[in-house]
Amino acid sequence: MAVYDNVHELVGRTPLVALHAFPLPKGVRLYAKCEYFNPGGSVKDRLGETIIREAMQSGKLKPGGTLIEPTAGNTGIGLALAAVGKGIHVLFCVPEKFSVEKQTLMKALGARVVKTPSDQGMAGAIKKAKAFEQSIKNSYCPNQFANPNNPKAYFESLGPELWEDLHGSLDVLVAGAGSGGTFTGTADYLKKRNPEIKTVVVEPVGSILNGGAPAEHRTEGIGMEFIPSFVKTEYFDEIYTISDEDAFKRLKEAAALEGLLIGSSSGSALHAALLEAEKAKPGTTIVVIFPDSSERYLSQRIYES
Ligand code: PMP
Repeated sequence: MAVYDNVHELVGRTPLVALHAFPLPKGVRLYAKCEYFNPGGSVKDRLGETIIREAMQSGKLKPGGTLIEPTAGNTGIGLALAAVGKGIHVLFCVPEKFSVEKQTLMKALGARVVKTPSDQGMAGAIKKAKAFEQSIKNSYCPNQFANPNNPKAYFESLGPELWEDLHGSLDVLVAGAGSGGTFTGTADYLKKRNPEIKTVVVEPVGSILNGGAPAEHRTEGIGMEFIPSFVKTEYFDEIYTISDEDAFKRLKEAAALEGLLIGSSSGSALHAALLEAEKAKPGTTIVVIFPDSSERYLSQRIYES
C-alpha cells in the first residue's frame, strides 16, 4: 500500500533488517525487526490499536469516556495515538524516572500525564491508575500488566509478520520483556507454527526472571518487578540477564556500524542475540526485536555516556 487513509493504518508491517557488521559464526544469520518504524515510534503502537479497538467494541470505553493507564511511556504513546480522533480523554500514570521525551510525546498526542514516585516503581503507577479509575466516571483502565489483549496484540500481528517475513525459516526469537506481552504473544504464535523455534527472553540486571532482586537499571522499557499472569514462562527457553553497560555498548555499535538508531532495550536484546549467535549451529536464523529508537532518550545523553 502506498497511500494510507489514516495514521492507524500505518501500525505494523515494520521492516526486518539483516545485521552484517557484527561478527557472526559462519552460516548464522541475524535479523532485526525494527519496531521504531511504527508511527508512534515503538512496538507498543500495536498494543494501543488492539486495546482501543477492543475497549470500544466491547463498550468498556465510549466517546467522552477516559482511558487511564500505568505506563513507562511507549504504551502510553501507542494508546494516545490509537485514541486520536475517537473522542476519548487519555490519562497516564508514569513513574517520573522515565524518559521526558516519551512524556512529551504522550502530551503532544493529547494525553494528561501524572507522575508517580520513582522509588515505587511500576507498582506505584498501577496503584495510582486504579485509584483514578475509581474516582473518574466513565473511565477504563486496560492495565497492560493484567490484560490478555497485551500478548494477543503480538500473537495477531508481530508473530505472523515475522513468520511471513522469513517464510517460516527462523530458528530463534530474541525479545526483551517489560510486561512480557511482546515476548509471550510473539513466542506463542511462533511456537504454534513450529514448536522447534527457540524463544529467548531478555531482561536487564535488576529484573527478577533469573532469580535476582528488583533493582534500579538504566535500560528502559524492559525489566520485571513481578510476572504478569499472562506470561507463559514455559516459553523461556533461555533467559539472558544483560547489564546496562552491555546494552549501551551495543546501542552505540548498532548506530555506528549498522546505522540503526535503537534504544537501550534494543541494545540489551542485541547483546543477548549475539551471545545466542555464538553458540548457534551453522544455518541458524535468529530474529531480534528492536522495540524503539534512541531518539526518545537523547536527553539522557545515551551516546555520550
Ligand atoms: N522495550 C521498550 C522500549 C518498551 O517500552 C517496552 C514496553 N514497556 C518493551 C521493550 C517491552 O515490551 P513488553 O511490555 O511487551 O514486554
